[in-house]
Amino acid sequence: MIPPIANKFVAGETAESAVSHVESLNRDGVSGILNLLGEHYSDRRGADADAEAYVSLVRDVAAADIDGCISVKPSQIGIDVSDGVFRENLNRIVEAASEEDIFVWVDMEDHTTTNVTLDAVCDLGHETDGTVGVCVQANLKRTPDDLERLASVPGKVRLVKGAYNEPASVAHKKKAKVDEVYRDLLEYMFAEFDDGVAVGSHDPAMLSYARELHDEYGTPYEVQMLMGVREDAQRELAAEGVDVWQYAPYGDKWFQYFYRRVRERKENALFALRAVVGV
Ligand code: FAD
Repeated sequence: MIPPIANKFVAGETAESAVSHVESLNRDGVSGILNLLGEHYSDRRGADADAEAYVSLVRDVAAADIDGCISVKPSQIGIDVSDGVFRENLNRIVEAASEEDIFVWVDMEDHTTTNVTLDAVCDLGHETDGTVGVCVQANLKRTPDDLERLASVPGKVRLVKGAYNEPASVAHKKKAKVDEVYRDLLEYMFAEFDDGVAVGSHDPAMLSYARELHDEYGTPYEVQMLMGVREDAQRELAAEGVDVWQYAPYGDKWFQYFYRRVRERKENALFALRAVVGV
């Protein structure tokens, strides 16, 4: 069972608890992106089992009739096993999701996986006419070229700053530079992406810049933030009419994810400490 201190960041251990979390988000006007926790399977069994769990999840989301979709990590469905296993599992998930009219996001992992991930998403984007979207990272130097490629692919793109510690040969390492590039890429997306822009950030500066760009270009956009991070802002933006999606992970592999959230920010560490000592 997940201890109460991790409940802030994780929507329970089961698909049932995750769906019920999205039901409660929907009551506040926020939609849910569900991610089954798990990554880096080096054998096919784990990857196939998680792909099957996603197929079952999209049916649960459809049956519950909630404003929800899913987000999948490539290494969770076999990219470390082989490109073929990854594609097979992603196709299977997207096929089931398309039948239920549920959108599928593909998270982006470290730069060694970018080509294979984008190739699969671009093929599926054309085949399904856009029921699949992908995340791109502002810290990677290749991302302006990737966005140029994605501009002609049906589907949505989520822009994030990038969570992986990448080598300087492929990535911008200074935060100020990543922020500058993030702004430039946002502007490019608002100008070129008719299907809409997904702003994956908690940064108030980026969120208000996205609003300015929306006013200037008229391109639809959505804001995506993590469960447990700036949830007040998520609800406030939704109340103002912004399309807000909360990325909510769930599943029994919650510990590593929780630990990452606690380590990345002082406030989260204090929250965990307070929960442990009961203040
Ligand atoms: P930062 O640059 O970390 O912080 C800027 C400002 O935002 C802070 O000064 C503060 O004002 C505010 N802020 C940030 N965090 C907090 C907090 N915890 N509490 C309060 N205020 C805060 N990365 C990938 O590499 N691949 C992915 O597929 C991916 N998917 C993501 C999906 C979603 C929905 C989100 C939100 C992020 C995802 N990320 C992904 C992570 C992303 O790359 C960043 O590491 C992460 O979002 C931190 O960057 P930031 O833009 O939120 O703000």
